[in-house]
This record gives sequence, structure tokens and C-alpha cells, in this order.
Amino acid sequence: MRKELINFIRDKFKNEGFIPLHVPVFKGNEKSFLEECIDSTFVSSVGEYVNLFEDTLSKITQTKKTTAVVNGTAALQVALRLVGVKKDDEVITQALTFVATANAIIYNNAQPIFLDVDIDTMGLSPQAVNDFLEEFGDVREDGCYNKKTGRKIAACMPMHTFGFPVHLDELLEVCNKWNIPVVEDAAESLGSEYKGKPTGGFGEVGAISFNGNKIVTCGGGGAILTNNVELGEKAKFLTTTAKQPHSYEYVHNELGYNFRMPNLNAALACAQLEQLHSFLANKRSLAVDYHLFFKEKGVNFRTETANTKANYWLMCVELNDKKERDLFLKTTNESGVMTRPIWQLMFKSPMYENCQRDNQKNALYLEERIVNIPSSVR
Ligand SMILES: *Cc1c(COP(=O)(O)O)cnc(C)c1O
Repeated sequence: MRKELINFIRDKFKNEGFIPLHVPVFKGNEKSFLEECIDSTFVSSVGEYVNLFEDTLSKITQTKKTTAVVNGTAALQVALRLVGVKKDDEVITQALTFVATANAIIYNNAQPIFLDVDIDTMGLSPQAVNDFLEEFGDVREDGCYNKKTGRKIAACMPMHTFGFPVHLDELLEVCNKWNIPVVEDAAESLGSEYKGKPTGGFGEVGAISFNGNKIVTCGGGGAILTNNVELGEKAKFLTTTAKQPHSYEYVHNELGYNFRMPNLNAALACAQLEQLHSFLANKRSLAVDYHLFFKEKGVNFRTETANTKANYWLMCVELNDKKERDLFLKTTNESGVMTRPIWQLMFKSPMYENCQRDNQKNALYLEERIVNIPSSVR
């Protein structure tokens, strides 16, 4: 299977050299928008491309207010603060994620609680969240508290792994029941849909990344999404140093951040967003071909779950066990076809080893079996 796969991938990417996991494609208006941006001299923190980017992304994600920021991690950090996460609070999330999800919690001086994922979505399991809260949750006037630690559980942050949406209806129902706001880590899922609606707009606040390896990139960048206009305005305020509006005086009454996205990056982002639709179609056609190939070989290529549309950001297969996975990784990488195991679970990192967590049954299962395969737009 592995030899055939390598040939299959070389054929799909028409490339006999090294084939990376995911590379950006700049075949639209990138150069002309960048040139226009430089000519305007507005290359820094304000400019027409920032505004255009925010409006375009609001339309794409069907959310009321978008704030462009420097990267996805900063977007997550501020998103958590916006829903009220404070020092010594706790935030429920998954251990099977990229480290930025957990780091954004610590940046708010809060602590993560790691709960299990579902096998089908690879994202936070509504059942696991409910089970945990049945045991430890205590709903009070001002929110939900953890009976074990006495701390407030100030947010729940699911992550749509590789662009596969989590079971949002069920998760939102559980979080509503326990009075916990949801922050969506939609860093990987721009263009994915749940029951016909784009991810990123389901929680109180959502965050998207435009890093170089994501489906759409602007070099580095992120966005904070929300349907709550007041929170949206607060997002802009906090990420632009929290300066009181005034034409020449500089007055700050609150700790803000310099997290704004430069106009130069926004120009690149605008050109990339114009191509999102074609990128999605291109990736979907590769996913269809992969699916057929792996089906014949009896390998589980991950496809979208019922009622969802995945953006197929990073495509992946589930191998039978760790031994088979290791052999797969070795053969492909040694042949110049890049493949990569899913992330090590967060609580295995020293910074997170003492965080509260459940049994992680599904996360541990997936950690040993899931491998990403080349997924670039061709
Ligand atoms: C990429 C990513 C981020 C962070 O985005 P950056 O723009 O790289 O800071 C956060 N969460 C997840 C799940 C990601 O994949």
C-alpha cells in the first residue's frame, strides 16, 4: 500500500521531488494588492485592506463583527478574555489539539481542563463535557464552578480538528445547560460548515488563523469573530491598545494589546479570500480521490461526518495501531512525501501535566493512529 500511495501522491501533485504537507498558493491578486498597498504608504496598522478583510470575513463566516489581529493565538487569547475569563478561572478544552489552544488559556492566567474528544470528529466530545460537569459542575448565580477546585469554569473551547466540525448542537446544549460560554477555536476550519452554517460563528466568540500553513494565509494573521456587536467592538478596542477614542489625546483606562493586523498582511489576506471557494473545491476533489484510493486498500481515510462540510485543510488517515503508523511515517518521509502524526496530547507536556482531565480514552486512541498526508491546493 505504501509504495502505491507514494506513486499516487506523486501523480496527484505532479511532483517527483519533495512533497510537503501543506504549502500556500498565490495565483490570484496577491501581487497587485500588495503593490497597491505599498504605493498607498498605508502598510501598517490601519488601512483599507484591513477594513475590506474584516468585512469580507464577516460575510464569509456569516458573523456580525470581525476583528483582524496578528495571529490566531492572539485571537484566541482575546476571545477568552472577551467572554470573561479571568485569573484563576478554568477553561474546558481538548488535549488533542495544537498547543496554541492551551497556551491561550494560560496567557489569561487561567487553567485548562482537558476533556476527551469524539472518535468521529476528533474534536471536543459533548458527552465527555456533560459527564465531567455532572460530576464536578456546580451552577451558581454568576456561572459554573468546579466542585473539586472551587474555581469558576469560565469558558469551553472546542477545536475543529483539521477542519472537521465538532458536534456543535450537542455541545452548545450542554454548555447552555451548565451556563458556560463557548469560544470556538476555528483556527483550522475556515470554510467548514455545520448544518449549512460556517464554523466560527456558533459560540459567543470564534477565532481563525491565517498562518502560512492554513487553508488561506496572509503570512501571519488571525481574526476574532462574533455575533455580539458589543463584544466585537470590545475586541477591536482591546487589540488596538485600548485607547479611548479621541483625535489627539492618548488616554488608556484598561490594559490593551498591540495585536492589530498590518494592512500589508490584510492585502495578502484579501487576495487569498477571493480564492477560498476554489481552494475548497480543489481540496475536496483531492479528498474524493484519496478516499477512493484508501477504500480499495482497506485504510480509513477520514471524511466529513453527517450534516457537516469539512474544508479538508489537512487530510488524514487512521492506521490500525502505533506500529503500523510508525512504519507508514518512516516509509513516506524517507521517500520525500511528507506525513506527520497528530499532535502529542497536551497533558504530556510539562506545562500541562498537572491539569485536571478525564480518562482521554478516544484522544489516546487517535494519538497513536492518525497521520496527516499531503493536502495542498494543486
Ligand atoms: C494554527 C492554530 C492556532 C494558532 O494560529 P497562529 O496563527 O499560528 O497563531 C490555534 N489553534 C489551532 C488549533 C491551530 O491549528
